[in-house]
Amino acid sequence: MANSVFLSSLSSRSAKELVFLVALTALFVAPVALARGQEAPTVAIKVDQVGYPLDGPKDAIVSVLGKTFQLKRSAGNAVVFSGTLAQPKADAITGDQAQIADFSSFNTPGTYYIDIPGVGRSWNFTLGANVYQRAYYMAMRGFYAQRCGTAVDMGPEFPGFTHPACHLHGEFHPTSGKSGERDNIGGWHDAGDYGRYTVNSGISTGLLLWAWEIYAPRLKDIALNIPETGNGTPDILNEARWNLEWMLKMQDDDGGVWHKQTSEHFAAFIAPQDDKLVSDVIGTGSAPYKSTCATADLASVAAIAARVFKPFDAEFAAKNLDAARRAWDWAEKNPNVTFRNPHGISTGDYGDHICSDELLWAAAELGRTTGESAFSDYFLGNYAHFLPVLDSPPAQSWSQLAPMALWTYALSHQKGEDPKAVAAIRDRTLAAANAVVERTHASPYRNSMKATDYIWGSNGVAAGYGIYLLIANQFSPNPNFTDAARDNLHYILGRNTFSLSWVTQLGENPFQHPHHRPSAATGKAWPGLMSGGPNAGRQDAVLAKLPKDLPPAKVYADQTPSYASNEIAINWQASLVFLLAGELQ
Ligand SMILES: [Zn+2]
Repeated sequence: MANSVFLSSLSSRSAKELVFLVALTALFVAPVALARGQEAPTVAIKVDQVGYPLDGPKDAIVSVLGKTFQLKRSAGNAVVFSGTLAQPKADAITGDQAQIADFSSFNTPGTYYIDIPGVGRSWNFTLGANVYQRAYYMAMRGFYAQRCGTAVDMGPEFPGFTHPACHLHGEFHPTSGKSGERDNIGGWHDAGDYGRYTVNSGISTGLLLWAWEIYAPRLKDIALNIPETGNGTPDILNEARWNLEWMLKMQDDDGGVWHKQTSEHFAAFIAPQDDKLVSDVIGTGSAPYKSTCATADLASVAAIAARVFKPFDAEFAAKNLDAARRAWDWAEKNPNVTFRNPHGISTGDYGDHICSDELLWAAAELGRTTGESAFSDYFLGNYAHFLPVLDSPPAQSWSQLAPMALWTYALSHQKGEDPKAVAAIRDRTLAAANAVVERTHASPYRNSMKATDYIWGSNGVAAGYGIYLLIANQFSPNPNFTDAARDNLHYILGRNTFSLSWVTQLGENPFQHPHHRPSAATGKAWPGLMSGGPNAGRQDAVLAKLPKDLPPAKVYADQTPSYASNEIAINWQASLVFLLAGELQ
């Protein structure tokens, strides 16, 4: 369809543009069959392709100048609402002229599209009370898809997305200080590769457990159709436990935790069961072999798990608390053991040379779980140094855990709580969140992203703004916070310059070619996975060839080789899940 017309126009374009345009051709292939006589949607109209809850603002963005718009019912094309497009605003971040189509006052549930005379029609989307439930389900199922050491089957909803048990052979690498065979079952493949990394597991698993702690009433009955479904434990916890069990195995007898378990180098682009490289537990290469950041990450996550699993599996909760305490003791004794890839290892480094934020997080979570003054004392003696981190949202990341530490302290009501510390954390978070709300309202594309946010994993940054705003909403409920958080979700789900849903197989125009080995091996994108997103850093060869003057938000290629803009990863997947959980009803 549009593809052939599009390609025929390429002859007059420069080679550089051609590379870019080829990158974009996937956007013009509608993955859904259009009804007979139905016009193909235009990428000039950007909507949240999942939809909009009935409460709160509902906006589309239009990047071709127009005057009026209509909202039409998808079945039968009846006009249900007409409006005037807002004045166009020049947007330096995308290079677009952006006009807002506001249909907030229309509140009838159903499936609709936007139609603009002379421009075209948008993708279909839903208006409803709880429109993000399936998106949440798919994003959580994205973690199930990443399970290692077991057979995975996304069918019957997504037939053909399956693999037998993978990576069954593990060993201790000489850098771990141990040798011999190693029980290798468990954990999630980290990203597009098959490694497992304690440090990135920290914030990923932690965010899922936090989503449960904050939003349990919304999540408790959502079955994820995973092997554990129906065992009496909520499925978000069942899925988190799959990775947590692996993290616990990464703890040595002395309490320290190894940094990662990967092959010595990345596998070829093959299916997981075909990757026969040995999965090695990798350490620092010299005593004490384990690293501080990894150990404190496990202490933090296991401390949360000790709280949240208690009502469902007291024995597992106790096992986690014991692991957290032993990890804490090790990390306190070894506060500065950092990790760099030892000689001969070339998988992800996740190098972090400052572990004091991880230690603060561990102290805060252990304090919240146990109420013991030793942990509160550590927190109160060290937290003030980290307060400025809150001034630059979204401050939390796999390597910056101070916000998690500060927030868990302020959100809890632990014994020995210090009102001054709580007030400082709360006030700084609210001030920064209010600034984000103002920027979001002023942004032509109505999201929180700054030009400098288009880095590796920028979609995780967008979701991270959402998390920051939702935490602010925990401190002081305010629709401005939840609406702005939702604006960032709209961005991820299609209200962006590409009119592209950055979650595979979600919405009518999702990205198609994740940097993800199982997807490449299957020949189709596995469902429910979020792309890293535009990245002005251009660290891969695909992005390096894009036109030099592209605005930051446009430096993206829906191509498998673009690991710097199109890889999936558990840390930004967890941010998406948290944001979706916050927008459920
Ligand atoms: Zn595996």
